[in-house]
Amino acid sequence: MSQSWALRCQILSCTSQPTDDSGWFYHSDGLIWVVDGLIKRVGSYSDVKNYLPSDIRIKHKPEYLLIPGFVDTHVHYPQLEMIGAYGTQLLDWLNRYTFPVELKYRDYEYASKQAVQFLDQLLANGTTTALVFATSSVNSVDAFFAESLRRNLRMISGKILMDRHAPDALCDTAQSAYDDSTALIEKWRGQGRLGYAVTPRFAPTSTDAQLDVAGALIKENGDAYLHTHLSENVDEIAWVGELFPEQQGYLDTYDHFGLVTDRSVFAHGIHLSDAEMQRLHNCGSAICHCPSSNLFLGSGLFPLKRLQQMGVNVTMGTDVGGGTSLSMLSTQGDAYKIQQMAGHLLKPLEAFYMATLAGAKALGLDDRIGALVEGYEADMVLLDLASTPVIEERMKRADKIEDVLFALSILGDDRSIAQTYVMGESVL
Ligand SMILES: [Zn+2]
Repeated sequence: MSQSWALRCQILSCTSQPTDDSGWFYHSDGLIWVVDGLIKRVGSYSDVKNYLPSDIRIKHKPEYLLIPGFVDTHVHYPQLEMIGAYGTQLLDWLNRYTFPVELKYRDYEYASKQAVQFLDQLLANGTTTALVFATSSVNSVDAFFAESLRRNLRMISGKILMDRHAPDALCDTAQSAYDDSTALIEKWRGQGRLGYAVTPRFAPTSTDAQLDVAGALIKENGDAYLHTHLSENVDEIAWVGELFPEQQGYLDTYDHFGLVTDRSVFAHGIHLSDAEMQRLHNCGSAICHCPSSNLFLGSGLFPLKRLQQMGVNVTMGTDVGGGTSLSMLSTQGDAYKIQQMAGHLLKPLEAFYMATLAGAKALGLDDRIGALVEGYEADMVLLDLASTPVIEERMKRADKIEDVLFALSILGDDRSIAQTYVMGESVL
């Protein structure tokens, strides 16, 4: 039996990279019709109502705003339990806090329990697709994919490749990384809405032999993504220079092993040269900006303007637990604040695009998610524009949708998420 429903409310979506007057739409009195998990019609109420079957009941929520589900293109599910760990920068933070926690995910039952909690929280924050770090253990990936499949979520993850500079119990080898990744890809390929990402943690924790394996996995599996970290911290960059003296810098280290492609997403990219940005643009790779993490770990001011000028696709991620919230609303607010410090004004619709359609584009999924378009999967979020007394008061002074969006990014969090829809189903 077909599932068909309609909602009349405010509707906002990008359709391409937005300018002030193109690449997006907003209907103050909008209507969306969803059939069997897909968007059948979307537009103004006065137009779309003419297409609806006569017996359909239309829910009416004029004070609510419907947007596409958020796409978080960099987050670590095992790190949710150690979010907010005090007092260190990247390399020390990994050793002191991250690695001890990741050891626990060798246990399937434990990983399953944590995957449930993580996905509950992701959906509570309106994120319907994420590019997710698991740990180096196969069990951590199996547990995450099993729970994502059970919920019919469009999620991408993969086993961390890490064969040095970490505790022995977390390290794999070049050969086991190849064997385990290949087995995981074959096991999960075609299952539900899942995707696989070849995931070296970052260059310093992989030997040349292992980065070579990562390149082979990318070459052998055209549907796989590449997900890793790049140029986050100045000490990290100096370390990469020592470890890979033959290469012309951090990005070139990945490039040398065939890891810079149009299916690659690099988290951070704070301290990039012009040549590196040009190379990212030429290869169609994306940089995922993780502002709350950059602030928390003191990593630096993200060069958004330069990346935009170079035509690099910039997406947005929470990077929990280096990041401090799973909310893609507050993450947009943090991005704005970082650009204020950098002397650049980030427009609300630009941030909104980074948090939705740009992420889908980086993942090659912009033909089905990231926007509210006919035929797309109905992964969506309904925002409550009066979720706290302060927001309710503030919205009385918002005269344009850009201002509504901006106020939500500064004041909003999971309380602003009235409903999250996955393939048209309410999941909160
Ligand atoms: Zn990260």
